Amino acid sequence: MAEGVSAVAVTEYLDTIEPDLKNITRLFGLPDSVWDAPCSYSMRMEEDAARYRCTWTDGEHTARLETPIPAETGVARTDDLHRRRAVRRLCRQTLYALCRETTGIHPPWGSLTGIRPTRLIYEQLEAGLPLEEAQARVIALFDVRPDKAELLGEIVRTQSLLPPPGDGWMDVYIGIPFCTTRCAYCSFSSGEIGKGKLVEPYLQALFTELEQGAGLIRESGRTLRAVYVGGGTPTALSAEQLERLLDLACGLFPGALEWTVEAGRPDTLSPEKLRVIRAHGVGRISINPQTMNDRTLQVIGRAHTARQVRDAYAMARAESFHHINMDVIAGLPGEGLEDFAVTMEAARELRPESLTVHTLAIKRSSRLHLENAPLPAASVAEGMTEMGRAAAKALGMTPYYLYRQKYMAGNQENVGYALPGHACLYNVDIMEENTHILAFGAGGISKRIYPDEGHIGRAPNVSNIEQYIARVGEMVGRKRALFLSAPGE
Ligand code: SF4
Repeated sequence: MAEGVSAVAVTEYLDTIEPDLKNITRLFGLPDSVWDAPCSYSMRMEEDAARYRCTWTDGEHTARLETPIPAETGVARTDDLHRRRAVRRLCRQTLYALCRETTGIHPPWGSLTGIRPTRLIYEQLEAGLPLEEAQARVIALFDVRPDKAELLGEIVRTQSLLPPPGDGWMDVYIGIPFCTTRCAYCSFSSGEIGKGKLVEPYLQALFTELEQGAGLIRESGRTLRAVYVGGGTPTALSAEQLERLLDLACGLFPGALEWTVEAGRPDTLSPEKLRVIRAHGVGRISINPQTMNDRTLQVIGRAHTARQVRDAYAMARAESFHHINMDVIAGLPGEGLEDFAVTMEAARELRPESLTVHTLAIKRSSRLHLENAPLPAASVAEGMTEMGRAAAKALGMTPYYLYRQKYMAGNQENVGYALPGHACLYNVDIMEENTHILAFGAGGISKRIYPDEGHIGRAPNVSNIEQYIARVGEMVGRKRALFLSAPGE
Protein backbone atom coordinates (compact mmCIF):
# COMPACT_ATOMS: atom_id res chain seq x y z
CA MET A 1 0.00 0.00 0.00
CA ALA A 2 1.33 3.45 -0.93
CA GLU A 3 2.53 5.62 1.91
CA GLY A 4 -0.25 7.60 3.52
CA VAL A 5 -3.21 5.66 2.13
CA SER A 6 -3.63 3.20 4.99
CA ALA A 7 -4.26 6.05 7.42
CA VAL A 8 -7.56 6.95 5.73
CA ALA A 9 -10.61 5.12 7.10
CA VAL A 10 -13.22 4.29 4.46
CA THR A 11 -15.88 6.41 6.17
CA GLU A 12 -13.66 9.50 5.88
CA TYR A 13 -14.20 9.37 2.12
CA LEU A 14 -17.89 9.94 2.77
CA ASP A 15 -17.55 13.34 4.42
CA THR A 16 -19.69 15.97 2.65
CA ILE A 17 -21.54 13.31 0.60
CA GLU A 18 -24.99 14.41 1.78
CA PRO A 19 -25.68 16.73 -1.22
CA ASP A 20 -24.82 13.83 -3.57
CA LEU A 21 -27.30 11.62 -1.76
CA LYS A 22 -30.03 14.24 -2.09
CA ASN A 23 -29.28 14.39 -5.80
CA ILE A 24 -29.92 10.65 -6.01
CA THR A 25 -33.29 10.75 -4.24
CA ARG A 26 -34.31 13.73 -6.41
CA LEU A 27 -33.79 11.53 -9.49
CA PHE A 28 -36.85 9.61 -8.30
CA GLY A 29 -38.92 12.70 -7.57
CA LEU A 30 -38.48 12.28 -3.80
CA PRO A 31 -38.49 15.54 -1.78
CA ASP A 32 -35.37 16.53 0.18
CA SER A 33 -37.47 16.17 3.34
CA VAL A 34 -36.95 12.38 3.16
CA TRP A 35 -33.57 13.16 4.74
CA ASP A 36 -35.05 15.08 7.68
CA ALA A 37 -35.01 13.42 11.09
CA PRO A 38 -36.32 10.88 11.82
CA CYS A 39 -34.82 9.57 8.56
CA SER A 40 -35.68 6.02 7.51
CA TYR A 41 -32.54 5.57 5.39
CA SER A 42 -29.38 4.12 6.86
CA MET A 43 -26.08 3.08 5.30
CA ARG A 44 -23.16 0.82 6.18
CA MET A 45 -19.82 0.85 4.32
CA GLU A 46 -17.23 -1.88 4.93
CA GLU A 47 -13.94 -2.99 3.39
CA ASP A 48 -11.73 -6.04 3.35
CA ALA A 49 -8.39 -6.54 1.63
CA ALA A 50 -9.88 -6.46 -1.89
CA ARG A 51 -13.36 -4.89 -1.92
CA TYR A 52 -15.58 -2.15 -0.60
CA ARG A 53 -19.12 -3.23 0.35
CA CYS A 54 -22.08 -0.91 0.84
CA THR A 55 -25.55 -1.58 2.27
CA TRP A 56 -28.47 0.86 2.25
CA THR A 57 -31.83 0.19 3.89
CA ASP A 58 -35.03 2.15 4.33
CA GLY A 59 -36.32 -0.17 7.02
CA GLU A 60 -38.37 -2.37 4.68
CA HIS A 61 -36.02 -2.81 1.71
CA THR A 62 -32.28 -3.38 1.50
CA ALA A 63 -29.77 -2.90 -1.33
CA ARG A 64 -26.19 -4.21 -1.26
CA LEU A 65 -23.40 -3.55 -3.77
CA GLU A 66 -19.65 -3.99 -3.78
CA THR A 67 -16.69 -2.83 -5.84
CA PRO A 68 -12.98 -3.76 -6.04
CA ILE A 69 -10.54 -1.47 -4.26
CA PRO A 70 -8.67 0.39 -7.06
CA ALA A 71 -5.20 -0.89 -7.88
CA GLU A 72 -2.34 1.13 -6.41
CA THR A 73 -0.35 3.46 -8.62
CA GLY A 74 2.48 4.04 -6.12
CA VAL A 75 1.56 7.73 -5.78
CA ALA A 76 -0.17 8.23 -2.44
CA ARG A 77 -2.19 11.29 -3.45
CA THR A 78 -3.46 9.60 -6.64
CA ASP A 79 -4.33 6.36 -4.82
CA ASP A 80 -6.22 8.33 -2.21
CA LEU A 81 -8.17 10.14 -4.93
CA HIS A 82 -9.06 6.87 -6.71
CA ARG A 83 -10.24 5.29 -3.47
CA ARG A 84 -12.29 8.32 -2.50
CA ARG A 85 -14.01 8.24 -5.90
CA ALA A 86 -14.68 4.49 -5.71
CA VAL A 87 -16.19 4.67 -2.22
CA ARG A 88 -18.38 7.67 -2.98
CA ARG A 89 -19.56 6.17 -6.27
CA LEU A 90 -20.43 2.88 -4.54
CA CYS A 91 -22.36 4.72 -1.83
CA ARG A 92 -24.41 6.64 -4.42
CA GLN A 93 -25.04 3.61 -6.61
CA THR A 94 -26.26 1.49 -3.74
CA LEU A 95 -28.71 4.18 -2.66
CA TYR A 96 -29.80 4.43 -6.30
CA ALA A 97 -30.44 0.66 -6.42
CA LEU A 98 -32.60 0.96 -3.31
CA CYS A 99 -34.68 3.84 -4.74
CA ARG A 100 -35.01 2.08 -8.11
CA GLU A 101 -36.45 -0.95 -6.39
CA THR A 102 -38.83 0.97 -4.15
CA THR A 103 -40.15 3.44 -6.78
CA GLY A 104 -39.99 1.36 -9.98
CA ILE A 105 -38.73 4.48 -11.85
CA HIS A 106 -35.86 4.24 -14.38
CA PRO A 107 -34.26 7.74 -14.70
CA PRO A 108 -32.90 8.40 -18.24
CA TRP A 109 -29.33 8.89 -17.00
CA GLY A 110 -29.58 6.10 -14.40
CA SER A 111 -27.63 6.85 -11.25
CA LEU A 112 -25.56 9.63 -12.87
CA THR A 113 -25.95 13.00 -11.24
CA GLY A 114 -22.68 14.58 -12.41
CA ILE A 115 -22.25 17.32 -14.97
CA ARG A 116 -20.06 15.41 -17.46
CA PRO A 117 -21.30 11.91 -18.32
CA THR A 118 -18.96 11.68 -21.35
CA ARG A 119 -16.13 11.37 -18.84
CA LEU A 120 -17.37 7.88 -17.96
CA ILE A 121 -17.07 6.76 -21.58
CA TYR A 122 -13.53 8.20 -21.71
CA GLU A 123 -12.66 6.30 -18.52
CA GLN A 124 -13.69 3.05 -20.20
CA LEU A 125 -11.81 3.91 -23.40
CA GLU A 126 -8.68 4.65 -21.35
CA ALA A 127 -9.11 1.22 -19.74
CA GLY A 128 -8.77 -0.25 -23.25
CA LEU A 129 -12.39 -0.96 -24.23
CA PRO A 130 -13.64 -0.17 -27.75
CA LEU A 131 -16.42 2.45 -27.93
CA GLU A 132 -19.40 0.08 -28.17
CA GLU A 133 -18.20 -1.92 -25.18
CA ALA A 134 -17.55 1.32 -23.28
CA GLN A 135 -21.19 2.30 -23.89
CA ALA A 136 -22.39 -1.14 -22.75
CA ARG A 137 -20.28 -0.86 -19.61
CA VAL A 138 -21.73 2.56 -18.76
CA ILE A 139 -25.22 1.07 -19.16
CA ALA A 140 -24.31 -1.85 -16.90
CA LEU A 141 -22.49 0.20 -14.26
CA PHE A 142 -24.81 3.20 -13.99
CA ASP A 143 -28.15 1.95 -15.35
CA VAL A 144 -27.99 4.63 -18.08
CA ARG A 145 -30.71 4.14 -20.71
CA PRO A 146 -29.33 2.72 -24.00
CA ASP A 147 -30.44 5.76 -26.06
CA LYS A 148 -28.49 8.09 -23.73
CA ALA A 149 -25.42 5.84 -23.86
CA GLU A 150 -25.67 5.91 -27.67
CA LEU A 151 -25.79 9.73 -27.52
CA LEU A 152 -22.56 9.71 -25.46
CA GLY A 153 -20.97 7.42 -28.03
CA GLU A 154 -21.91 9.77 -30.90
CA ILE A 155 -20.42 12.71 -29.00
CA VAL A 156 -17.16 10.93 -28.29
CA ARG A 157 -16.96 9.94 -31.98
CA THR A 158 -17.43 13.60 -33.06
CA GLN A 159 -14.89 14.82 -30.49
CA SER A 160 -12.32 12.34 -31.82
CA LEU A 161 -12.31 14.31 -35.10
CA LEU A 162 -11.26 17.58 -33.39
CA PRO A 163 -7.65 18.71 -32.84
CA PRO A 164 -6.67 16.65 -29.78
CA PRO A 165 -6.82 18.63 -26.50
CA GLY A 166 -4.12 18.42 -23.85
CA ASP A 167 -1.51 19.92 -21.59
CA GLY A 168 0.18 21.91 -24.37
CA TRP A 169 -2.91 24.01 -25.18
CA MET A 170 -4.58 26.94 -23.48
CA ASP A 171 -7.99 28.50 -24.18
CA VAL A 172 -8.87 32.10 -23.37
CA TYR A 173 -12.21 33.27 -21.96
CA ILE A 174 -13.11 36.98 -21.83
CA GLY A 175 -16.27 37.84 -19.88
CA ILE A 176 -18.55 40.85 -20.44
CA PRO A 177 -21.02 40.66 -17.54
CA PHE A 178 -23.67 43.04 -18.88
CA CYS A 179 -27.06 42.34 -20.47
CA THR A 180 -29.93 44.53 -21.63
CA THR A 181 -32.39 42.86 -19.23
CA ARG A 182 -32.20 39.85 -16.94
CA CYS A 183 -33.68 36.54 -18.13
CA ALA A 184 -35.97 34.81 -15.65
CA TYR A 185 -33.85 31.64 -15.62
CA CYS A 186 -30.48 33.44 -15.35
CA SER A 187 -28.17 32.62 -12.46
CA PHE A 188 -25.13 34.54 -13.69
CA SER A 189 -23.82 37.59 -11.94
CA SER A 190 -24.51 39.99 -14.81
CA GLY A 191 -25.48 43.65 -14.57
CA GLU A 192 -28.16 45.40 -16.60
CA ILE A 193 -26.26 47.63 -18.98
CA GLY A 194 -28.90 50.36 -19.12
CA LYS A 195 -28.61 51.05 -15.41
CA GLY A 196 -24.89 51.21 -15.10
CA LYS A 197 -22.12 53.70 -15.27
CA LEU A 198 -19.92 50.70 -14.70
CA VAL A 199 -19.24 49.69 -18.28
CA GLU A 200 -16.31 52.03 -18.95
CA PRO A 201 -14.57 51.40 -15.59
CA TYR A 202 -15.15 47.68 -16.17
CA LEU A 203 -13.57 47.80 -19.61
CA GLN A 204 -10.55 49.69 -18.25
CA ALA A 205 -10.05 47.03 -15.56
CA LEU A 206 -10.53 44.25 -18.12
CA PHE A 207 -7.98 45.82 -20.47
CA THR A 208 -5.47 45.98 -17.59
CA GLU A 209 -6.09 42.34 -16.74
CA LEU A 210 -5.71 41.30 -20.39
CA GLU A 211 -2.48 43.27 -20.85
CA GLN A 212 -0.94 41.91 -17.65
CA GLY A 213 -2.19 38.33 -17.97
CA ALA A 214 -1.99 37.44 -21.68
CA GLY A 215 1.72 36.60 -21.44
CA LEU A 216 0.91 33.67 -19.16
CA ILE A 217 0.24 31.46 -22.19
CA ARG A 218 3.84 31.81 -23.37
CA GLU A 219 5.35 32.01 -19.86
CA SER A 220 3.72 28.71 -18.90
CA GLY A 221 4.91 27.11 -22.13
CA ARG A 222 1.51 26.63 -23.77
CA THR A 223 0.02 27.38 -27.17
CA LEU A 224 -3.18 29.36 -27.68
CA ARG A 225 -6.08 27.21 -28.88
CA ALA A 226 -9.51 28.97 -28.79
CA VAL A 227 -10.76 32.39 -27.66
CA TYR A 228 -14.33 32.83 -26.39
CA VAL A 229 -15.83 36.24 -25.64
CA GLY A 230 -18.91 35.51 -23.53
CA GLY A 231 -20.95 36.92 -20.72
CA GLY A 232 -23.47 38.32 -20.22
CA THR A 233 -23.95 39.66 -23.69
CA PRO A 234 -20.77 41.12 -25.24
CA THR A 235 -22.83 42.78 -27.98
CA ALA A 236 -24.59 44.82 -25.29
CA LEU A 237 -21.43 46.99 -25.57
CA SER A 238 -21.48 49.80 -28.12
CA ALA A 239 -19.78 49.25 -31.50
CA GLU A 240 -16.96 51.54 -30.39
CA GLN A 241 -16.44 49.66 -27.10
CA LEU A 242 -16.51 46.32 -28.93
CA GLU A 243 -13.92 47.64 -31.36
CA ARG A 244 -11.55 48.68 -28.55
CA LEU A 245 -11.99 45.30 -26.86
CA LEU A 246 -11.37 43.28 -30.01
CA ASP A 247 -8.46 45.50 -31.13
CA LEU A 248 -6.71 44.74 -27.86
CA ALA A 249 -7.69 41.06 -27.60
CA CYS A 250 -6.77 40.21 -31.21
CA GLY A 251 -3.37 41.85 -30.72
CA LEU A 252 -2.74 39.91 -27.50
CA PHE A 253 -4.02 36.54 -28.75
CA PRO A 254 -2.86 36.00 -32.33
CA GLY A 255 -3.08 32.63 -34.06
CA ALA A 256 -6.08 31.10 -32.24
CA LEU A 257 -7.67 28.10 -33.98
CA GLU A 258 -11.13 29.55 -33.24
CA TRP A 259 -12.75 32.80 -32.10
CA THR A 260 -16.31 33.09 -30.77
CA VAL A 261 -18.21 36.22 -29.76
CA GLU A 262 -21.55 35.68 -28.01
CA ALA A 263 -24.11 37.91 -29.68
CA GLY A 264 -26.85 36.30 -27.59
CA ARG A 265 -29.59 38.92 -27.64
CA PRO A 266 -30.78 39.76 -31.17
CA ASP A 267 -31.90 43.21 -29.99
CA THR A 268 -28.28 44.14 -29.20
CA LEU A 269 -27.12 43.64 -32.79
CA SER A 270 -26.59 46.19 -35.53
CA PRO A 271 -24.81 45.97 -38.90
CA GLU A 272 -22.09 48.20 -37.43
CA LYS A 273 -21.38 45.85 -34.49
CA LEU A 274 -21.42 42.81 -36.76
CA ARG A 275 -18.95 44.52 -39.11
CA VAL A 276 -16.63 45.25 -36.16
CA ILE A 277 -16.72 41.59 -35.11
CA ARG A 278 -16.21 40.30 -38.65
CA ALA A 279 -13.39 42.78 -39.36
CA HIS A 280 -11.44 41.28 -36.43
CA GLY A 281 -11.57 37.83 -38.01
CA VAL A 282 -14.10 36.32 -35.60
CA GLY A 283 -15.64 33.34 -37.37
CA ARG A 284 -18.28 32.17 -34.90
CA ILE A 285 -21.08 34.11 -33.25
CA SER A 286 -24.06 32.94 -31.26
CA ILE A 287 -27.53 34.45 -31.77
CA ASN A 288 -29.91 32.89 -29.29
CA PRO A 289 -33.68 33.02 -29.49
CA GLN A 290 -34.19 30.48 -26.63
CA THR A 291 -37.79 30.28 -27.94
CA MET A 292 -39.55 31.62 -31.03
CA ASN A 293 -42.81 32.26 -29.18
CA ASP A 294 -43.31 35.95 -28.37
CA ARG A 295 -45.53 35.25 -25.37
CA THR A 296 -42.81 33.13 -23.74
CA LEU A 297 -40.09 35.67 -24.62
CA GLN A 298 -42.03 38.23 -22.59
CA VAL A 299 -42.61 35.85 -19.69
CA ILE A 300 -38.88 35.08 -19.42
CA GLY A 301 -37.86 38.75 -19.62
CA ARG A 302 -35.98 38.63 -22.92
CA ALA A 303 -37.44 41.95 -24.19
CA HIS A 304 -37.13 40.99 -27.86
CA THR A 305 -39.40 39.27 -30.36
CA ALA A 306 -39.12 36.27 -32.67
CA ARG A 307 -39.17 38.74 -35.58
CA GLN A 308 -36.00 40.37 -34.20
CA VAL A 309 -34.33 36.95 -34.14
CA ARG A 310 -35.10 36.45 -37.84
CA ASP A 311 -33.87 39.97 -38.62
CA ALA A 312 -30.64 39.37 -36.68
CA TYR A 313 -29.93 36.15 -38.62
CA ALA A 314 -30.53 37.99 -41.92
CA MET A 315 -28.24 40.84 -40.78
CA ALA A 316 -25.46 38.41 -39.78
CA ARG A 317 -25.70 36.50 -43.06
CA ALA A 318 -25.52 39.82 -44.93
CA GLU A 319 -22.29 40.56 -43.05
CA SER A 320 -20.86 37.20 -44.22
CA PHE A 321 -21.01 35.21 -40.99
CA HIS A 322 -20.75 31.55 -41.95
CA HIS A 323 -20.94 30.05 -38.49
CA ILE A 324 -23.89 31.12 -36.37
CA ASN A 325 -24.80 29.11 -33.30
CA MET A 326 -28.37 29.06 -31.98
CA ASP A 327 -29.25 28.31 -28.32
CA VAL A 328 -32.76 27.16 -27.43
CA ILE A 329 -34.30 26.00 -24.15
CA ALA A 330 -36.70 23.06 -23.79
CA GLY A 331 -39.25 23.35 -20.99
CA LEU A 332 -39.64 27.12 -20.65
CA PRO A 333 -42.57 28.29 -18.46
CA GLY A 334 -45.96 27.70 -20.06
CA GLU A 335 -44.55 25.94 -23.15
CA GLY A 336 -45.83 22.60 -24.40
CA LEU A 337 -44.65 20.34 -27.18
CA GLU A 338 -46.45 22.41 -29.82
CA ASP A 339 -44.62 25.60 -28.71
CA PHE A 340 -41.26 23.89 -28.87
CA ALA A 341 -42.18 22.58 -32.33
CA VAL A 342 -42.55 26.23 -33.46
CA THR A 343 -39.01 26.98 -32.23
CA MET A 344 -37.59 23.91 -33.95
CA GLU A 345 -39.36 24.80 -37.19
CA ALA A 346 -37.74 28.25 -37.06
CA ALA A 347 -34.35 26.60 -36.47
CA ARG A 348 -34.86 24.56 -39.65
CA GLU A 349 -35.67 27.75 -41.58
CA LEU A 350 -32.82 29.86 -40.17
CA ARG A 351 -30.28 27.06 -40.69
CA PRO A 352 -27.68 27.85 -38.00
CA GLU A 353 -24.40 25.93 -38.36
CA SER A 354 -24.68 24.74 -34.78
CA LEU A 355 -27.61 24.34 -32.41
CA THR A 356 -27.48 23.97 -28.64
CA VAL A 357 -30.58 22.46 -27.07
CA HIS A 358 -30.69 23.21 -23.35
CA THR A 359 -33.22 21.75 -20.95
CA LEU A 360 -34.57 24.24 -18.43
CA ALA A 361 -32.86 24.02 -15.05
CA ILE A 362 -34.16 26.23 -12.27
CA LYS A 363 -31.14 27.59 -10.41
CA ARG A 364 -31.43 28.94 -6.90
CA SER A 365 -30.36 32.46 -7.80
CA SER A 366 -32.84 32.81 -10.70
CA ARG A 367 -36.15 34.68 -10.77
CA LEU A 368 -37.94 31.41 -11.69
CA HIS A 369 -36.73 29.92 -8.40
CA LEU A 370 -38.00 32.90 -6.41
CA GLU A 371 -41.36 32.61 -8.17
CA ASN A 372 -41.53 28.86 -7.46
CA ALA A 373 -42.04 28.22 -11.18
CA PRO A 374 -42.74 24.54 -11.87
CA LEU A 375 -40.64 22.42 -14.21
CA PRO A 376 -42.56 20.70 -17.01
CA ALA A 377 -43.54 17.05 -16.69
CA ALA A 378 -40.71 14.62 -17.40
CA SER A 379 -42.51 13.27 -20.49
CA VAL A 380 -42.83 16.82 -21.94
CA ALA A 381 -39.15 17.63 -21.31
CA GLU A 382 -38.16 14.34 -22.89
CA GLY A 383 -40.42 14.94 -25.92
CA MET A 384 -38.77 18.34 -26.44
CA THR A 385 -35.20 17.05 -26.24
CA GLU A 386 -36.15 14.36 -28.76
CA MET A 387 -37.57 17.07 -31.03
CA GLY A 388 -34.33 19.02 -30.68
CA ARG A 389 -32.33 15.96 -31.62
CA ALA A 390 -34.56 15.31 -34.66
CA ALA A 391 -34.29 18.95 -35.83
CA ALA A 392 -30.50 18.86 -35.53
CA LYS A 393 -30.39 15.61 -37.48
CA ALA A 394 -32.64 17.08 -40.19
CA LEU A 395 -30.18 19.99 -40.45
CA GLY A 396 -27.31 17.52 -40.98
CA MET A 397 -25.77 18.02 -37.52
CA THR A 398 -24.28 15.55 -35.07
CA PRO A 399 -24.02 15.98 -31.28
CA TYR A 400 -20.57 17.14 -30.13
CA TYR A 401 -20.79 18.10 -26.45
CA LEU A 402 -23.12 17.47 -23.57
CA TYR A 403 -23.51 18.49 -19.98
CA ARG A 404 -26.07 18.12 -17.26
CA GLN A 405 -27.12 20.38 -14.41
CA LYS A 406 -28.97 20.06 -11.15
CA TYR A 407 -32.75 20.57 -11.08
CA MET A 408 -33.15 19.91 -14.83
CA ALA A 409 -36.58 19.30 -16.28
CA GLY A 410 -37.14 15.55 -16.63
CA ASN A 411 -33.52 14.79 -15.65
CA GLN A 412 -32.56 15.45 -19.26
CA GLU A 413 -29.40 17.17 -20.60
CA ASN A 414 -27.94 20.05 -22.63
CA VAL A 415 -26.56 19.01 -26.01
CA GLY A 416 -24.56 20.96 -28.60
CA TYR A 417 -25.06 19.82 -32.21
CA ALA A 418 -23.05 21.05 -35.19
CA LEU A 419 -22.59 20.55 -38.90
CA PRO A 420 -19.40 18.67 -39.82
CA GLY A 421 -16.42 20.96 -39.21
CA HIS A 422 -18.42 23.37 -37.01
CA ALA A 423 -18.03 21.92 -33.51
CA CYS A 424 -16.90 24.64 -31.09
CA LEU A 425 -13.53 23.67 -29.60
CA TYR A 426 -13.98 25.94 -26.60
CA ASN A 427 -17.32 24.34 -25.67
CA VAL A 428 -15.77 20.88 -25.81
CA ASP A 429 -12.71 21.94 -23.81
CA ILE A 430 -14.67 23.64 -21.05
CA MET A 431 -16.99 20.67 -20.65
CA GLU A 432 -14.42 17.91 -20.88
CA GLU A 433 -11.97 19.83 -18.64
CA ASN A 434 -8.95 18.61 -20.61
CA THR A 435 -7.39 21.96 -21.69
CA HIS A 436 -6.13 24.86 -19.57
CA ILE A 437 -8.43 27.90 -19.44
CA LEU A 438 -7.09 31.42 -18.91
CA ALA A 439 -10.10 33.50 -17.91
CA PHE A 440 -10.45 37.29 -17.81
CA GLY A 441 -13.25 39.43 -16.46
CA ALA A 442 -15.64 39.32 -13.50
CA GLY A 443 -16.71 35.78 -12.64
CA GLY A 444 -14.22 34.11 -15.00
CA ILE A 445 -12.62 30.93 -13.65
CA SER A 446 -9.12 30.01 -14.83
CA LYS A 447 -8.40 26.29 -14.77
CA ARG A 448 -5.14 24.42 -14.80
CA ILE A 449 -5.31 20.72 -15.59
CA TYR A 450 -2.89 18.27 -14.00
CA PRO A 451 -3.18 15.33 -16.40
CA ASP A 452 -0.80 13.05 -14.48
CA GLU A 453 -2.58 13.54 -11.19
CA GLY A 454 -6.12 13.70 -12.58
CA HIS A 455 -7.12 16.89 -10.83
CA ILE A 456 -7.83 20.52 -11.73
CA GLY A 457 -6.61 23.72 -10.07
CA ARG A 458 -8.85 26.78 -10.20
CA ALA A 459 -8.29 30.53 -9.86
CA PRO A 460 -11.68 32.27 -9.80
CA ASN A 461 -12.05 35.98 -10.44
CA VAL A 462 -14.51 37.75 -8.16
CA SER A 463 -17.93 37.96 -9.81
CA ASN A 464 -19.10 41.26 -8.29
CA ILE A 465 -18.39 43.93 -10.92
CA GLU A 466 -17.35 46.70 -8.48
CA GLN A 467 -15.09 44.31 -6.57
CA TYR A 468 -13.53 43.15 -9.82
CA ILE A 469 -12.75 46.72 -10.85
CA ALA A 470 -11.20 47.49 -7.46
CA ARG A 471 -9.17 44.27 -7.22
CA VAL A 472 -8.10 43.54 -10.78
CA GLY A 473 -4.39 43.37 -9.85
CA GLU A 474 -5.22 40.58 -7.40
CA MET A 475 -7.00 38.66 -10.21
CA VAL A 476 -3.82 38.74 -12.31
CA GLY A 477 -1.82 37.54 -9.27
CA ARG A 478 -4.16 34.58 -8.78
CA LYS A 479 -3.63 33.48 -12.38
CA ARG A 480 0.16 33.81 -12.12
CA ALA A 481 0.15 31.70 -8.95
CA LEU A 482 -1.99 29.05 -10.65
CA PHE A 483 -0.09 28.68 -13.89
CA LEU A 484 3.50 29.38 -12.84
CA SER A 485 3.71 27.22 -9.70
CA ALA A 486 5.36 23.80 -9.94
CA PRO A 487 2.89 20.82 -9.81
CA GLY A 488 2.22 19.86 -6.19
CA GLU A 489 2.98 23.35 -4.80
S1 SF4 B 1 -28.58 36.76 -21.75
FE1 SF4 B 1 -27.57 35.17 -20.57
S2 SF4 B 1 -26.31 36.23 -19.04
FE2 SF4 B 1 -27.79 37.72 -19.88
S3 SF4 B 1 -29.52 37.69 -18.43
FE3 SF4 B 1 -29.99 36.22 -20.09
S4 SF4 B 1 -29.21 34.22 -19.36
FE4 SF4 B 1 -28.30 35.83 -18.08
